[in-house]
Amino acid sequence: MAKIKIAIVGLGKIARDQHIPSLHSSDAFELVAVASPHGKLDGVPSFGDIESLLRAMPDVTAVALCTTPQVRYDIARCALRLGRHVLLEKPPGVTVSEVLALADLAKQRRVTLFASWHSRHARAVEPARVWLAWRKIFKVTITWKEDVRVWHPAQPWIWKAGGLGVFDPGINALSILTGIFPGTFALKSAELSYPGNCETPIAARLSLTGPRGAMTHVELDFLQTGPQTWDIDVETDAGRLNLSMGGSMMTVDNRPVATAPATEYANLYTHFAELIRRGRVDVDITPLQLVADAFLCGRRVDVDPFVE
Ligand code: NAP
Repeated sequence: MAKIKIAIVGLGKIARDQHIPSLHSSDAFELVAVASPHGKLDGVPSFGDIESLLRAMPDVTAVALCTTPQVRYDIARCALRLGRHVLLEKPPGVTVSEVLALADLAKQRRVTLFASWHSRHARAVEPARVWLAWRKIFKVTITWKEDVRVWHPAQPWIWKAGGLGVFDPGINALSILTGIFPGTFALKSAELSYPGNCETPIAARLSLTGPRGAMTHVELDFLQTGPQTWDIDVETDAGRLNLSMGGSMMTVDNRPVATAPATEYANLYTHFAELIRRGRVDVDITPLQLVADAFLCGRRVDVDPFVE
């Protein structure tokens, strides 16, 4: 079958680290163009913005939006209106309402919109979901602590409104949480720590009640030096499940559980191709909604200014 001709919009860290290598080894997609204000990719036609790209290359039928979140809505709208299938990097937008508006537009135009959550494709996430399906859940603890200076150097957009601050990685944890437990989480309280010179939080604590009544505590921190922690612990009637390394490793009572080798972004593009083939829209706003709720009800704590 002919490959789907796809373009990447936003040639930054995640495009270069994950999207480009995944597309180069994809059976379903062929990377034929990029659009980015300042970036060019050797051997591939490069444009300054999406409109020039789509005008010059009408055979591009899908786009992957890897831009900063604050510009994603207008770009997605342009692509959907011009009848292209769209993959959104996480978070799918800066507000819940703009993501819902994009989903409506995709349905009207009968094209695919995929609001992707790459962490849900990490290799231990599905085994964890299956293992937890029949367990009684007592308590869930999420600890997501990383060094922003290591993982997000020179990314000022993270500290601007809509950039999410510590929720930029934290939303990955919430995407796994809401992926492994079917049902609804309710956010009960939040405490958000804001550096005096930033519009977004540098640390956060959340409390939620889970679909089976279990309390869930979330600790997010952007100033973690030394070992980095991307852990989800679940206490159950059959032992303690730990997902670590952002959903890549799983143990039960400290015993490793074997998982199939798989890569997040290869799986993500396989799913996008399947959605296009079946003419589907896949937009799950649950993780973004929990973050929005934290901003709605969160108690503000002022902390020292952040200096990169
Ligand atoms: P980044 O390195 O700052 O890259 C963002 C890129 O967006 C920039 O290179 C910029 O292009 C481009 N851009 C800005 N405005 C644009 C516009 N109007 N049209 C086209 N491109 C535009 O950020 P990143 O780390 O790749 O993160 C991007 C998104 O991916 C974020 O939502 C983030 O949450 C998500 N993500 C990041 C990671 C990660 O490890 N970094 C992992 C998973 C998901 P120019 O350089 O050409 O100006």
